[in-house]
Amino acid sequence: MTAAAITAAISGAVLTACGPHAGGHLAQSSPSSVTPPAKPASPGPHPPSQAPSPSSASPSAPVPGGAAGGTQSGRTGGSAAVPSGPASQPGPAHTYAQLPSAPAGSDMVVGHGVVGGGKSVALTFDDGPDPRWTPQVLALLAQHHAKATFCEIGPLAQRYPYLTSAIVANGDRLCDHSVHHDEQQSRKPVEYNIREIVDAKREITNAAGDGAKLMYYRAPGGDWSPTIRAIAGANHLQPLGWSDDANDWRRPGVDGILRNINQDLRPGTIILMHDGGGDRSQTVQALARLLNQLDAQGYSYGFPA
Ligand SMILES: [Zn+2]
Repeated sequence: MTAAAITAAISGAVLTACGPHAGGHLAQSSPSSVTPPAKPASPGPHPPSQAPSPSSASPSAPVPGGAAGGTQSGRTGGSAAVPSGPASQPGPAHTYAQLPSAPAGSDMVVGHGVVGGGKSVALTFDDGPDPRWTPQVLALLAQHHAKATFCEIGPLAQRYPYLTSAIVANGDRLCDHSVHHDEQQSRKPVEYNIREIVDAKREITNAAGDGAKLMYYRAPGGDWSPTIRAIAGANHLQPLGWSDDANDWRRPGVDGILRNINQDLRPGTIILMHDGGGDRSQTVQALARLLNQLDAQGYSYGFPA
């Protein structure tokens, strides 16, 4: 991808915020059809953000380039503040008008395109794993022989490793979605960014066990910077965006979620939904209908290219 294409991709609608849902990640505990171990590991706290501690910063990721930044998040607050009515379309959440050149090999954000091409879509689910919702998503995917990519919060993978390993066993892929889901990560020091990405990668990989396919990094809220892309690239994680936002975290109703998806649905679409971060009952119901629809339309299911 050329620099111009990258700029176009990330300055347009491809990278809108994936939703202010920090804070709800560890709030749920409910039965699941995926059998948990006798004693799930106790997680650390999952606050929106913490001051970085240089002593625990990983030295494993070289970071070319200078300061992070250049983004502005226009959306803050928790999903509790979002009205339950039909979702309003937010304005552009980020601006990249002065995007500097990204280091070679780390300058791509996959926002569209599915492995194998053809009439296929890539389903992606963020902010899990969640013991209530992730098993329901996995069950629906299995019914339809559909594959998906799960962008996980590191401490949640650590807390529910049986869910992460179930994802791997299903043949799905994993994506690093940071430690704290800090949607203003790009404004923070480089060391903080490294820890958010590298620590989560380690937590997800440990949870996934053998055969883990942790191939991507998705910035919380689509809050990308050249530095964040560089850190991801240095850690062999493809920066992953999306091209079709279900806006399911707003809970616009099942019809609303389907409407949001169908607005931008076309071959090669990377669809963003959520299996964590709050009540995802609407998402699960919408997914059931979406999969029936996609099957009927002759779509196949792939992974982001
Ligand atoms: Zn997210």
